[in-house]
Amino acid sequence: MLELADVTKTYPGGVAAVRGVSLAVSRGEMAAIVGPSGSGKSTMLHLIGTLDRPTTGTVRVDGFDVSRLSDRELSALRATRIGFVFQQFHLAAGVRAVDNVADGLLYAGVSRRDRRKRAAAALERVGLGHRLEHRPHELSGGERQRVAIARAVVGEPALLLADEPTGNLDTASGTAVMALLRELHAAGTTIVVITHDLEIAASVPRQVRMRDGMVEAAVTV
Ligand code: ADP
Repeated sequence: MLELADVTKTYPGGVAAVRGVSLAVSRGEMAAIVGPSGSGKSTMLHLIGTLDRPTTGTVRVDGFDVSRLSDRELSALRATRIGFVFQQFHLAAGVRAVDNVADGLLYAGVSRRDRRKRAAAALERVGLGHRLEHRPHELSGGERQRVAIARAVVGEPALLLADEPTGNLDTASGTAVMALLRELHAAGTTIVVITHDLEIAASVPRQVRMRDGMVEAAVTV
């Protein structure tokens, strides 16, 4: 589902943020990329999320070589095959939960009516069937992140990419969000979580530990 081969990323100015990473994540796997600040996690997020191309090496998402695609093709790949979850939720303010989630299907060629129907089903799936009409400011942090997760998975992406998904949550909500991600994984979703938090990483079946732009160790439980 995801394959990085000898990937490097050097920023203008010469900072080598990722220095030769090879990594494969199979369909249905759940992995955490974990490391301290400055270890290259954000750069990995950009590379895996196809928001940036590697300096050398190849990144493949669902079989597509990111370096060979135009910007337009990359946007399409992102919109249809990758679901993003961010630390800051990034929900549209003042927009009902069901419509926030339905927006996740804007590029899927689905009618407005079906978008709402599938959005309602996705919200049921994350335990928010009773919050369809709520707006973000009427929801707790944990609920907002659930809405964001519903939006990320409503289009059934090949890969769910979560960047510090519990970073803005209290411990209990964070634990619940991780449990939800593990549930989605158990149901077949391929998930990569990026985190600096060792405890969060330890709750994920496979851990890829980064340091100084390289994979330091890989642990599978
Ligand atoms: P992390 O997310 O683990 O904190 P980053 O990927 O953000 O790590 O950073 C890895 C290294 O690359 C750091 O030394 C950082 O200063 C540098 N870096 C990150 N982004 C840029 C950029 N846009 N331009 C130059 N250097 C960058």
